[in-house]
This record gives sequence, C-alpha cells and structure tokens, in this order.
Amino acid sequence: MRLTIIGSGDAFGSGGRFNTCFMIDSGERRVLLDCGASSLVALKARNIDINTIDGVILSHLHGDHFGALPFFLLDSQFHSRRERPLTIVGPPGTRERLNAAMEVFFPRSSKTAWKFPLEIGEITPAIPDEVLGFAINTAVAIHQSGAPSTAVRLAHGGRVLAYSGDTEWTDALIPIADGADLFVIECYDYDRNLSGHMSFARLQEKRAQLRARRIMLTHMNPTMLARQDEAVAAGFLVAADGLAIDV
Ligand SMILES: [Zn+2]
Repeated sequence: MRLTIIGSGDAFGSGGRFNTCFMIDSGERRVLLDCGASSLVALKARNIDINTIDGVILSHLHGDHFGALPFFLLDSQFHSRRERPLTIVGPPGTRERLNAAMEVFFPRSSKTAWKFPLEIGEITPAIPDEVLGFAINTAVAIHQSGAPSTAVRLAHGGRVLAYSGDTEWTDALIPIADGADLFVIECYDYDRNLSGHMSFARLQEKRAQLRARRIMLTHMNPTMLARQDEAVAAGFLVAADGLAIDV
C-alpha cells in the first residue's frame, strides 16, 4: 500500500493544511480514507484525477472528514464525467447524512440519477468486512458526531494501515493499531485533554500500549503544530499535506 496525504489539517485549516483526506493505493485500487470539506480542492491542487478514485472510506460524519462528498459527486456527474463505479462506505448513518449534506448544499441533488454506478455502504463496527479488496475493521471511538465515530484498520497484501479517526484516548485503539505497519493518529492538542480529542501528553502516556511499527500524528491544532519537532524527537512521524510513504 502507498499512502499519499491529501489533507492532514484539523477542522479549521490550522497551519494552512487541508481537511483530513488520505489517498491509499493498493496497486489495484485507489481509495480515499476520509474526504473532508476542502478535499476536492486539495485533490485538484495535487493534479489527481478524481476519476481514478474507486472508493471513499469514512471514519466519521463530521464536515472536516466527509464534507467534500457532495462536491465530489456533482463534479463526477457534471464536470469530470465519471463512468467508473464509485463506492462510498462509512459508519452506520452514512447514507442518511450524505443525503442530508447533499440537500443542504445543493437542494434536490440527493435525487440525482447518477451516470456512474454509485454504491453507498455502511460498515458495522467490530464486524470484519471487505471494501474494494481491502480487509476492513472498525472500532467505535469517543467523539460526538451524531452517529458512531470510528477508528479504521485496513489490510491489503500483508500490510496494515490503521487510523484513529477523531477520538480522545480509548482502549479500542489498542487492537486497531496492533501490529499495524503504520498507525495514523489524531493528535489535536499538545497537552490539554479536550473532550473527543487526543493530546500529545495523553498519547505519550499511552504509547507503550500501541504496538504499531510506526505512528504518525495528524489533525493538529496550532498548539501541536508548534511542537512538531518535539514529536519527531520522540520518534513519531508527523503528517504533512503532500507527503507520500509506503506502508
Ligand atoms: Zn470529528
């Protein structure tokens, strides 16, 4: 698997970073893991043809993690003239929330007769599933989003990419990260334990329980962006828009 970071920002564009969006190439398929509000712009800024994307996997239903989808879908229909099938999966509630977002931004758009095969699926947490050749397993995180927020574990070709989604510390992250080649974890704040979000201080306390080969920090607010050197010195990888690594 190859990971390209399209967006590593928080909800507010801190540091000029785009909202969360990770592009994962398995060699056979290309999927986005989260597709936050600014992600269509971010993909185009990187000259990525959105018709090459087979699917979108959502950790949770906050705008900075799924909000580009109405724009992505309408671009696919009217501008990029997509023909390739598109699969969108997310936690329970994805179908309803996506339709609601479509209707808020572009009334009647949820009734569009799509010119490409569009499949929208919902992944039940803790039940192993398969999406576009990726083995997927999700776990419920601690993060209010009006539907289950999840951490996501993807496996392909003997490699494992794990992702926390947004969450404060929960022991549910331990099996998600276990044995992963790369665990991407939100690290929103430097030392405040805010409800629903991780801090670097808490992560350091819990780090020994995360048995991933590499851990990468993302979704950083200004307090954490200012401490990236400290994170690197402590042995973490730090996400950046445009960074690409083999998993
Ligand atoms: Zn969130």
